[in-house]
Amino acid sequence: MFIDSHCHLHRMDLTPYQNDMSKALLAAKAHGVTEVLNVCVRLDEVATIVALAEQFPEVYGSIGVHPSEVIDIEPTVDMLVTLASHEKIIAIGETGLDYHYNSEGLAEMQQRFRIHVEAARQCAKPLIVHSRAANEDSKTVIREAYQLGVAGVMHCFTETWDLAKVALESGFYISFSGIITFKNASNVVEVARQVPMDRILIETDAPYLTPVPFRGKPNAPEYVRYTAAKIAEIKGITLESVAEQTSQNYRDLFFANVST
Ligand SMILES: [Zn+2]
Ligand SMILES: [Zn+2]
Repeated sequence: MFIDSHCHLHRMDLTPYQNDMSKALLAAKAHGVTEVLNVCVRLDEVATIVALAEQFPEVYGSIGVHPSEVIDIEPTVDMLVTLASHEKIIAIGETGLDYHYNSEGLAEMQQRFRIHVEAARQCAKPLIVHSRAANEDSKTVIREAYQLGVAGVMHCFTETWDLAKVALESGFYISFSGIITFKNASNVVEVARQVPMDRILIETDAPYLTPVPFRGKPNAPEYVRYTAAKIAEIKGITLESVAEQTSQNYRDLFFANVST
């Protein structure tokens, strides 16, 4: 059984599923995906994220504003904490730093990141971090998060090993997406080789970043097994053990404080 620890269900093209989200989730289930974390990018998505989490038992959600999003009103700590109070909202994010798509407004971006860190601390929920071409500044904020007792996940990891190392030392998990199956992803493969199996999560980031052999098609949670298979190959272990360990890691991170 697989868990897609990061996707954007509400941004998916549902045409292949007769415009029916329940069919998309059934397709995922048919491929062994038992749970998905539907990640927020803008606050105007919150109502949809909450509605999907309420409608489908296997869907959970997060609250946050992506570092690259251009918005009218910056989120405040109170705003994020209030929106995250729903029982099926299990994380704050995605937040972080993206210097690949942005070369201006970096101080504001860092400020937005720190607001999410503080919100995560106040509501005691893990942080979903996006870092692209921002190794050094991400290290700084991750270390601050650690000092505040905030852990989380570095999602869709494509950064350097030394950022992964700082994140691991700070109690963070490292999540790999379909990028790990791409031909030019040797850096990501090398990082995955070094991350201990009990700190790895898997994700699709659907509808983006479709794994090989489906590159070019829209991504969906059902494809998370291709990332898992690549990790099994890198680690020299079975697909089943990757499925089991990554699902356990997901529970340890997002449900550690929840009594079941
Ligand atoms: Zn991201
Ligand atoms: Zn994402």
